[in-house]
Amino acid sequence: MKLLHFTGQVWRPPYEANSQLLQVTAGCTHNKCKFCSLYYGTKFRLSPITEIEEDLKVIQSYQSKARRVFLTGGNPFVLSYNRLLDLGLLIRKYLRYCESIGMFARISDIKSKTIEELKNLRHLGFDSISIGTESGDDETLAVMNKGYTANDIVEQCKKLEEANIRYNFVYLTGLAGKDKGEQNAINTANVFNQLHPFTINFVSLTVFPESDLYIEIQRGNFIEATEHERLLELRTFISKLCIETTLLGNTVSNTVPFIGMIPNDKTRLLNELDLAIKNIGEEELRRYRDSIKSL
Ligand code: SF4
Repeated sequence: MKLLHFTGQVWRPPYEANSQLLQVTAGCTHNKCKFCSLYYGTKFRLSPITEIEEDLKVIQSYQSKARRVFLTGGNPFVLSYNRLLDLGLLIRKYLRYCESIGMFARISDIKSKTIEELKNLRHLGFDSISIGTESGDDETLAVMNKGYTANDIVEQCKKLEEANIRYNFVYLTGLAGKDKGEQNAINTANVFNQLHPFTINFVSLTVFPESDLYIEIQRGNFIEATEHERLLELRTFISKLCIETTLLGNTVSNTVPFIGMIPNDKTRLLNELDLAIKNIGEEELRRYRDSIKSL
């Protein structure tokens, strides 16, 4: 039996659970975000076309009607326009029912592509890409080495909108550290309110020993926000949000899981958060955080 090629950690968002995974890269080209240990120990690698084609043949043999393909790796959208074009054509050659192709992208990966190029990629099925924005607060972005600013997020995502490519954001509560959640929430909501993310996915900072942030915490350079602070941050963010979008807070890192649509479910979500803040103690929430083994 032929197996698909996968190198190092393979990570996909929960909403891609039904997508066919295809490795085109491994690791992340940036690999410098202080809080991140997702691709620890995996050097960025580009899959050779022959290897991708071999995998597509395997997929064709058991999943020939796959409708969505999710390209794995930290940021496959970093690939050049021409490379993505070739990949899109190759996927269509083997999986003719494939309607769309998703993947993770960094804001800087969009920068290198023109609107015309993005439109062509959209025609080939590249859609609903996932961007780990994490925050729209410049101070937090800089401290965490994200490698872009709030303005970059707005500028690049407007290009995606012009090309009709849908995108999903990630908001990471607690990332700004102790006493800074409110500022992070307000500034991030201001940025996201200028855009139209298809979904916003919530993750809460969970620090693992492999990350640079873990060392910063040991040295006393970063103080983590309490669990209640994070819930208050989330509350502020949701209350300030005034766009139409879907909120997904159902990962293992969410101490209080939730799903809802904005604006319709805003009041319900805020009430749920208020109840949790009132009824669940800080120690219980922190115990849960400390029990998380991986994201
Ligand atoms: S958060 Fe994303 S961009 Fe940053 S190092 Fe991790 S995988 Fe790469």
